[in-house]
Amino acid sequence: MAVQKRTSTNVLLDTALKNFYAAAEEMGLEDGLVEVMSRPERAICVSIPVQMDDGSVRVFNGYRVQHSTVCGPAKGGLRFHPDVNLEECEALASLMTWKCSLAGIPYGGGKGGISVDPFELSPRERETMTRTFAARIAPFIGDWTDVPAPDVNTGGPEMVWIMDTISKLRGHLEPGVVTGKPVAYWGSKGRTAATGLGVATCILELLKTQHIDPKDATVIVQGFGNVGTYNALFLQEAGAKIVGISDITGGYYNPNGIDVKAAKAYVEKHPKRILDGYEEAGLVRMDGEAILEQECLVLSPCALEGVISDKNADKLKCKYIVEGANGPIRPEGDAILDKRGILVVPDFLANSGGVIGSYFEWVQDLAGFFWTEEEYNNRLVPIMKDNFKRVWDYAQEHNVKMRRAAFLVAIKRVADGLKIKGFFL
Ligand code: GLU
Repeated sequence: MAVQKRTSTNVLLDTALKNFYAAAEEMGLEDGLVEVMSRPERAICVSIPVQMDDGSVRVFNGYRVQHSTVCGPAKGGLRFHPDVNLEECEALASLMTWKCSLAGIPYGGGKGGISVDPFELSPRERETMTRTFAARIAPFIGDWTDVPAPDVNTGGPEMVWIMDTISKLRGHLEPGVVTGKPVAYWGSKGRTAATGLGVATCILELLKTQHIDPKDATVIVQGFGNVGTYNALFLQEAGAKIVGISDITGGYYNPNGIDVKAAKAYVEKHPKRILDGYEEAGLVRMDGEAILEQECLVLSPCALEGVISDKNADKLKCKYIVEGANGPIRPEGDAILDKRGILVVPDFLANSGGVIGSYFEWVQDLAGFFWTEEEYNNRLVPIMKDNFKRVWDYAQEHNVKMRRAAFLVAIKRVADGLKIKGFFL
């Protein structure tokens, strides 16, 4: 019987499935493997009741999807965002499978989160919600089963609450149950900057293939959260000119180059950790969508998914796009960029520094032995360079786009694992 191709009304999941089926077909993957790999192994939905500060009770929906554990424990972030739903988690979990596979680390893929606007909650409400969520998914997560990490709107505090809740439930410390913890509490030096460092490394490797000196490169980084900030910072240190940055308060463009260090310091002091009110000579403020359409050599979207689509892909004035966010380009947008000759370095290669960094943290937690930041970065950068080269070379050799090349390389490792292991559990 031919493969029953799944589709979804959720754009992200539909895109993930289409990308997978197309790559699977191209590599001639057996039907049985296609059926298995196009579905998550496990999808968990939980309700999360929280007693609010005013005494009322609200119930939030939480999810954890484990797409694959073929190459190791499921691995991937938890996001707190009103748009979180099961389909989105499934799509992002499969992306994590490919990301970890491509990165060559011993993990499968998972993703989860809570459908909530965390900024509406008080610190106590946020903590209670996170701990209740952790308790409800406790039977399914663990250092050798599924290891969550930060994602959109989650970070060190959430990871500490989860680790502490799980450790208390188990009756022993389990630091390796989550990564992205603060350095002071079983985290790892270097993890905070890891994703941004990885994206910046990919951009610099890309420039090398094009024989462009970083000093001649102008870059716009969309999103000034963890990924965007460190990406911009490392690129600036390498000599590139960051002409644009943005966050939820809009776009900030400066043809003379933005002082990223100063902008980062400004955000860190701002009570809401936003760029609003940031000033420097030559800075022009615009809306968040307009920043994507400004002149630059490299555009690096580092915020949410779907920001580049058929609505704006023909208006972009960059030559290269390096995806720091997960899924920032819709397939219709991708097709237009392809026609326009704009080269795209795909998310699950470009932003894999985060999960590779998580792997380093997990290794240190399991060993109870911690590395210096220098050791951490010195291990991360060569892995990113190697992975970039592997995908770049494959794309050149087989004359395919980098996204397709990355999929083909990533799917093969999981398929090989499945073939050796079989399908039992
Ligand atoms: N949320 C990050 C990602 O999408 C990190 C995941 C992790 O470290 O497990 O890659």
